[in-house]
Amino acid sequence: MIVVLDSGCSLKQKASVVRFIERRGGRLLVSEIGEETHIGLIGTEAQSLAGEIESMPGVAELRAIAAPYPQVSRDHHPENSEVRVGDVRIGGTEVVVMAGPCAVEDEDQLAAVGEVVARFGARMLRGGAFKPRSSPYSFQGLGEEGLVLLAEVREQTGLPVVTEVVAPEDVDVVGKYADMLQIGARNMQNFRLLSEVGAQSRPVLLKRGISSTVEELLLAAEYVVSAGNPQVVLCERGIRTFETTTRNTLDISAVPVLKRKTHLPVIVDPSHAAGERSLVPHLAGAAAAAGADGIIVEVHNNPESALSDGKQSLTLDGFETMMVQLRRIATAVDRHIETRQTYKPIDLARTLPTWEGSVGTNAIKGRKQACNIAAEHA
Ligand code: PEP
Ligand code: MN
Repeated sequence: MIVVLDSGCSLKQKASVVRFIERRGGRLLVSEIGEETHIGLIGTEAQSLAGEIESMPGVAELRAIAAPYPQVSRDHHPENSEVRVGDVRIGGTEVVVMAGPCAVEDEDQLAAVGEVVARFGARMLRGGAFKPRSSPYSFQGLGEEGLVLLAEVREQTGLPVVTEVVAPEDVDVVGKYADMLQIGARNMQNFRLLSEVGAQSRPVLLKRGISSTVEELLLAAEYVVSAGNPQVVLCERGIRTFETTTRNTLDISAVPVLKRKTHLPVIVDPSHAAGERSLVPHLAGAAAAAGADGIIVEVHNNPESALSDGKQSLTLDGFETMMVQLRRIATAVDRHIETRQTYKPIDLARTLPTWEGSVGTNAIKGRKQACNIAAEHA
């Protein structure tokens, strides 16, 4: 329920409405929408207070809240929210690129990927240390050892780290090393985990569940925010449909739909949507064109030998090529990708004709060559 105050409502009247609601145990959200002051009442007890609030001095009218996720809804918060991770702002004019391997495998792998993605415009480093795998026999991640490596490569590259937490009891240890905690698709409705990340101070990247609706994603975000953490970024990563030519179906409509419904930033994961590296640059471009605030993409220095998701991981040179294209698309929609001083764009005409064919066949082996490539373009 929304209490709309009279335009002539005095500060004293406003304070007594707020005090009344608080005394009766109501949770509230005060916002200025244009000329109007709104007091949003959250929770089931709101209705029982309606009669008394309506007759209080300074109250113009009561309106029903349309969205069941009042704190993440745009209804009470018309401006975009920005989520800060280190010096990176997600939700502003920049299209923020997060990149790195699916799973942290060893120091050489992570350092090689981290250095190259940083060089070509990634602003955050991704990499799973705790991996939610469909099969119990697949690589489950390095655990805390992987977190240590992520923190080391953050030191080397300056890129803040986003990594997944899969269990409520791991939130503390992941938060000790990471700058942003990821809740993966499989855990989007793990409500205890959502409340746990809501009760700590690191920003949260919340991925859409594989069979979840947009509304369910927003309700999951509401869990995190209502537990006390407003720093949530949503991620569309493809949903399961009848289509089998891609790993998942990227619901590109979800980007403008979410941007309309919520003030939270929205990013896209083209890698898990596509399941196949040659499609990733196309989906990344579509995401930027559709208004996404960023992308999170998997990159590997030797995808053929990756311990997870090698098929959908971009090679280092594939990442570089994608970034050239993505910068142009970002510019076309009045956004930008932060350019580091050392960055020198490659000649797109040289690389584009071989884009589809060569991505993946030209995997760069080892950290040394990766660094050479990076140095070549410095
Ligand atoms: C991941 O980002 O590595 C991951 C497992 O993604 P999702 O939860 O979207 O499947
Ligand atoms: Mn993956």
